[in-house]
Amino acid sequence: MNAKWASGDWATPPHGEFGDKQLNLKAYRDFVGEVTSDTSDNLEAMIFRLKELEGEWHLNTPLLLTSAIGLSGEVGEFNEIVKKLIFHGKEMNAEVQDHMIKELGDIAWYFMNTCRAIGVDMDEVIEKNVDKLKKRYPGGEFDVYKSNNKAEGDI
Ligand SMILES: [Mg+2]
Repeated sequence: MNAKWASGDWATPPHGEFGDKQLNLKAYRDFVGEVTSDTSDNLEAMIFRLKELEGEWHLNTPLLLTSAIGLSGEVGEFNEIVKKLIFHGKEMNAEVQDHMIKELGDIAWYFMNTCRAIGVDMDEVIEKNVDKLKKRYPGGEFDVYKSNNKAEGDI
């Protein structure tokens, strides 16, 4: 680990009206670089790991990458609509609902591709989710305590 970061030299002493620290962005950049995995920072290491995963688990790693990144993007697009509805005063109407439906369709598309990438059926994913929730809420109703105090292994 970068000695400067570990010793706290990443920031100058507090100064100014609010006692703000001034970040040393070079030291922070070095720190971030040092704690980044080789597979994140090196193409050959990443390709080696992708091939390792394909061999071990028969994962379709190109499909896994595009679907995982795609899921995030599409969820972000959906959430952008929700943000504008709730916080920007956007009017809810048929056009907005249609947009939401289209984004949900994009999410479903990437969800299905994610299932394909890891070699599972979508029904299996949904069945496992229903089983998990039935165990968490045996009475069949949401429970705040049970939601905040999950049993070990309940993820
Ligand atoms: Mg979209």
